[in-house]
Amino acid sequence: MPELPEVEVTRRGVAPHIEGRTVREVILRRDGLRWPFPEDLPAALAGKAVLATGRRGKYLLIHFDTGTLIIHLGMSGHLRVLPTDIPAQKHDHFDMVVDGPDGLQVLRMTDPRRFGAVLWHPREEGELDEHLLLRGLGVEPLGPEFTGKLLWEQTRTRSAAIKQVLMAGDIVVGVGNIYCSESLFRAGINPKTAANRISAARYDRLAQAIRDVLSEAIVQGGSTLRDFISVNGQSGYFQQTYFVYDRAGVPCRICGAPVRQIKQGQRSTFYCVNCQK
Ligand code: ZN
Repeated sequence: MPELPEVEVTRRGVAPHIEGRTVREVILRRDGLRWPFPEDLPAALAGKAVLATGRRGKYLLIHFDTGTLIIHLGMSGHLRVLPTDIPAQKHDHFDMVVDGPDGLQVLRMTDPRRFGAVLWHPREEGELDEHLLLRGLGVEPLGPEFTGKLLWEQTRTRSAAIKQVLMAGDIVVGVGNIYCSESLFRAGINPKTAANRISAARYDRLAQAIRDVLSEAIVQGGSTLRDFISVNGQSGYFQQTYFVYDRAGVPCRICGAPVRQIKQGQRSTFYCVNCQK
């Protein structure tokens, strides 16, 4: 599943190919994915220039002066920029053809499992932050608002396990299952610890660990997927070296104790009983 780093790497990869370019055509090859495609999307975007790209949590944003295209990659989606003469395959559901310096190019969304989404937020419907999918989101983990102090303040009345509080996404977005286990390991915090029992100092370490883990993933993903926009380039998700994630029973890289796997809220958590208190 694409996590925040994959979405950010995708945004950085496609941005130079679409920003400032004019949309020539939008092609929808089915009625929708997780939700129906906006029927009037081809007409709404034709002739419009892409002002900028952005990201909010795992939503990739393409801004126009008339509104914003909101794209979610779901479980299996990815975006590539291709020459227009590459025929669409079975799972290619959405094309946005743009003018490029060397002719037309297509931003193509492929999504075999179809849990992704392409939605349109017209400017006249108000602030983008108020969109149904975006308004409940916590702060961006790589932005200035995300601090240990914020984590501490927002958890004073929450007695649920810190892993589940982070994963809820209402305090901070983008700390998915992998990055949650890894960040808690780096901060030395047991994932079962009640959120309101963690000190401000430990939250400072946790916030830094979250920023580090996500930033490193973006850097690594950027190099792994350098050519992901090309026809034959990698279009999958990147694999990284983890401390604990998916390493059940394997010796901890720091202390050698076997990494433990437990279930929290139906999701697997990996941690080291020695290194995380
Ligand atoms: Zn350990």
